[in-house]
Amino acid sequence: MDILLHVCCGPCAAYPLEFFKERPDITPHLWFYNPNIHPRGEFLRRRDSLAFLAAHHGLTVDFSPPYQPELFLAELAKNPAPPERCRTCYALRFQAAAHKAAERGYPAFGTTLAFSRRQKHELIVEEGQKAAALHGVEFYYEDWRPGWQRGHEIAKSLGLYRQNYCGCVYSEFER
Ligand code: SF4
Repeated sequence: MDILLHVCCGPCAAYPLEFFKERPDITPHLWFYNPNIHPRGEFLRRRDSLAFLAAHHGLTVDFSPPYQPELFLAELAKNPAPPERCRTCYALRFQAAAHKAAERGYPAFGTTLAFSRRQKHELIVEEGQKAAALHGVEFYYEDWRPGWQRGHEIAKSLGLYRQNYCGCVYSEFER
């Protein structure tokens, strides 16, 4: 099965990519779509880190469209307090991912946010399923949190850039 895999950053993708090597029945197609990341330099560092990881695995990444923070900021202005802020953030990215999966004819999409112990998994599942239903695809959810340590070991051994905040301007000041 082909799935569109929304990737938030290299470190969060490290363990899922190892996981998929053991699952030849699933082919992930990587898509980096994160207009939430602030500022632009941080966006580029995370993008480049993923490009390096993907090349290490012989994979390609769809990096289109370019940085579009205005989309995220317009949504965020409606609800800047967590946890609703994060729901908005997931919804924006997942609806775009579900749309892209449907456009490409893939039956499902997933996200590497499901690797992170710091993300809100209940909201990820809710918003993932909502977005999937809107676009006639499935939401592929795998709880990759048990691979947290392994993922960090891989990221460290490859010298991937490892950020110390989630991504948005608010989280930059909450660290
Ligand atoms: S804290 Fe993270 S998930 Fe929540 S809105 Fe900011 S970037 Fe998005």
